[in-house]
Amino acid sequence: MTDSTGVELNMPLTEIHQWSKSRIRKNEITKYLNGERDFVDECAIEQILERNRNPDICHVRDILEKSLTIERLTPEETAVLANVTDPDLLNEMADTGLKVKRKVYDQRIVFFAPLYCSNRCVNGCAYYGFRSDNAAEKRRTLEMMEICEETRKVLSEGHKRMIMVFGEHPVSDVDYICSSLKTIYSVKEKTPRGNSTSIRRININAAPITVDALRQLHSEGIGTFQVFQETYHKETYRQMHPFGPKANYRWRLYALHHAMEAGVDDMGAGALLGLNDWKYEVLGLVAHAMDLEKKFNIGPHTVSVPRLTSASGSSIHVNSRYLVNDELFKRMITVIRLAIPYTGLIVTAREMPQIRMQSITSGCTQTDASSKIGVGAYAQQSEQRIDHQQFMLGDTRSLDEVVRELAEMGMITSFCAAGYRCGRTGDKIMRLLHSGTEGKFCKLNAVLTFREYLDDYASAQTKSVGEKVIEKELA
Ligand code: SAM
Repeated sequence: MTDSTGVELNMPLTEIHQWSKSRIRKNEITKYLNGERDFVDECAIEQILERNRNPDICHVRDILEKSLTIERLTPEETAVLANVTDPDLLNEMADTGLKVKRKVYDQRIVFFAPLYCSNRCVNGCAYYGFRSDNAAEKRRTLEMMEICEETRKVLSEGHKRMIMVFGEHPVSDVDYICSSLKTIYSVKEKTPRGNSTSIRRININAAPITVDALRQLHSEGIGTFQVFQETYHKETYRQMHPFGPKANYRWRLYALHHAMEAGVDDMGAGALLGLNDWKYEVLGLVAHAMDLEKKFNIGPHTVSVPRLTSASGSSIHVNSRYLVNDELFKRMITVIRLAIPYTGLIVTAREMPQIRMQSITSGCTQTDASSKIGVGAYAQQSEQRIDHQQFMLGDTRSLDEVVRELAEMGMITSFCAAGYRCGRTGDKIMRLLHSGTEGKFCKLNAVLTFREYLDDYASAQTKSVGEKVIEKELA
């Protein structure tokens, strides 16, 4: 039996169950424990937050000075910043956050396009449209020809980077992910001016997988391996993930450690905001960065901050007592920017245009545009449909529009992926980020790729605004 896309679906439920059980390798977890314990110590996080409830102004300023040296903050220092409520001090923090961002990344913004390859999933995440017991979701897994078609559409917008997204299911196992990588890298197109173009870097957001499977992805040229912990709070995690491999908190907690072990030295961490207290999650992210630094000498290359949005069959995005409003969201971005100064921060088109732009000016360094997150939605040119996608987007503007608005704010859009292709990953990129060299070092390529984009794809209006930014940079 096959579904409408020709993908085999005749796997008996018992086999799917068996497959789900075989996902988790206990020995790959235990080797990373500190004694018997995880790096996330819930009581300690709660005590640290409590102890630093009333921050002292001088202490806050000392911490800001430390951030400016691009040194990662301790959990204690992060808690101090997270507890600041005084408006003037919050402004000082935001200004320092911006200085830190400039020092590490300059005024560059990197764009990517998401590509959803399959929404079949064996898990039961309460907030997630793909969850297996959501009968309203229309299931689909792209065949390789369809992946080519989606890639061509993404390229025609001017994109050079992608993030592939998969549900956790036997139809989208590691072999499928490897074939998808190969397929996307093989698509070569011409720009409107007749130059060659292709996707130069593919990041992956998928469920945790074994070290051997990660080695396979590494050999196919995976970029960053992203796995969001969703929540670092164990009881909340248990409630949100009632069944499937994702119910195992620890298997997910060490997913990025496994990537490092396999040689994939670019990792993306993240927490889904709205499930639990945001301050707790920020301290969880810092603990995660610290454990990776301790065990591998490098921290997460990116941190993502998805906020809950509406998903089919779920009401958590309205009912949760932990929803993060726009003001708190901006505050939180500043705290993460200051706490893990070297990391790239990703804000996505989940956010409405205005808050997305504010997040970029206050600390984020990567974003998406022209995004379609339905499976096969680029080729179909379809509008958003809640029963065809994981959640709803807040900003569906084209890449051209978003690039223009950012250029009006003086920002350079970079499509460069040369650094990765030259082997500037892992500890090499970390050294450049820590020393503040990366921002300047990559500026020239950023400007060149921006120029290329303006000539190849931009509307006349965007071209004119973008050229002014380039002129200023050259001067
Ligand atoms: N199967 C993969 C995994 O296990 O991580 C893919 C997960 S999903 C496609 C990517 C991310 O979207 C999730 O890790 C979660 O943080 C976020 N997400 C899920 N539901 C969401 C919602 N309703 N609103 C906003 N973000 C959501």
